[in-house]
Amino acid sequence: MQIAFFSTRKYDRDSFEAVYGDSKDIEFHFIEPSLDVKTAVLAEGCDAVCIFVNDDASGPVLEILKDKGIKYIALRCAGTNNVDIKKAEDLGLTVVSVPSYSPEAVAEFAVGMILTLSRKYHKAYHRVRDGNFLLDGLLGQNINGKTVGLIGTGRIGLCTGKILSLGFGATVIAYDPYPAPAEVAQKHGITYVQQLDELLERSDMISIHCPLLPSTRHVINEETIGKMKNGVILVNTSRGGLIDTSALIKGLKENKFAAVGMDVYEKESEYFFRDSSEKVIQDDQLSRLLSFHNVFVSGHQAFFTIEALHGIAETTLSNLRSLAKGEQCKNIVKSSK
Ligand code: NAD
Repeated sequence: MQIAFFSTRKYDRDSFEAVYGDSKDIEFHFIEPSLDVKTAVLAEGCDAVCIFVNDDASGPVLEILKDKGIKYIALRCAGTNNVDIKKAEDLGLTVVSVPSYSPEAVAEFAVGMILTLSRKYHKAYHRVRDGNFLLDGLLGQNINGKTVGLIGTGRIGLCTGKILSLGFGATVIAYDPYPAPAEVAQKHGITYVQQLDELLERSDMISIHCPLLPSTRHVINEETIGKMKNGVILVNTSRGGLIDTSALIKGLKENKFAAVGMDVYEKESEYFFRDSSEKVIQDDQLSRLLSFHNVFVSGHQAFFTIEALHGIAETTLSNLRSLAKGEQCKNIVKSSK
């Protein structure tokens, strides 16, 4: 099987090569550009494409891939929001993903972001290196005893809840239209609320862990921000499109938030996973977000651990091998229709 591997970074190549070793059944063609309407032709002659979070697998791109002989789309990530699944099904393309690799990687990063924002590690690091050992401006707040609200309690949300509840002693409340069974919630130290509004009104800190779907797009908007406590800490390690950036900036300007942590951003595909340090950022909303003293942005890094990369490579290869052999593959992504 020939695979066109888009958006390749060195660490992708290293992790995949380490997992497939000397096997000859799959041949990867590592391509640096992201998949889009212009680059899709690079997949010509391959059986599958392997893509990541910001590759564009919308309808027009899928049509080109189909035309070039592609049969399989292998996502090397959990989220599937960048693929038009219905269109893929109509074209007879099979889509597979890695629904679970290391929920701990993302959960630990989310908790790290809450801790960074509540204790201002990021500011202390720069201050001390400048020879300034004053504490003024670094006053933090405990996580212990605070109410933390989780939006979404799948694999990552549950793990985040466990760390915050059992590790930090926070009161963890959660909203999820498909809640975990009572004994699972209890084991992870989570109590469900019936409505998102209750979570927004009660939480001192909010962490988002639901997928980006048409129903969850801009779940954080002007109205929902208005329902949050003043001085709330908001962390998003899920998908950028869950937050309406204009509403977030408005809330930040109105001092609604103590701090905001963003590992993802609504229009991240233009900048994330790229070095733009010698360019002028043309995205005024991103520039504005970076200008706030109480906003911490990282470049979609939450998944990025040795363990997670290994798990992603293993599952992706296993998915592709199952498809090549015509075997059942449990990670086929289907449209809800
Ligand atoms: P999951 O599918 O196990 O869980 C998602 C949960 O969200 C489910 O329980 C679902 O019922 C719930 N949900 C759906 N709609 C909701 C709504 N309107 N309100 C609240 N909850 C809702 O997914 P997961 O493995 O926990 O991953 C969650 C998300 O994290 C992924 O969809 C992906 O976008 C993101 N992610 C980010 C990174 C990163 O590096 N930043 C890495 C992996 C995953």
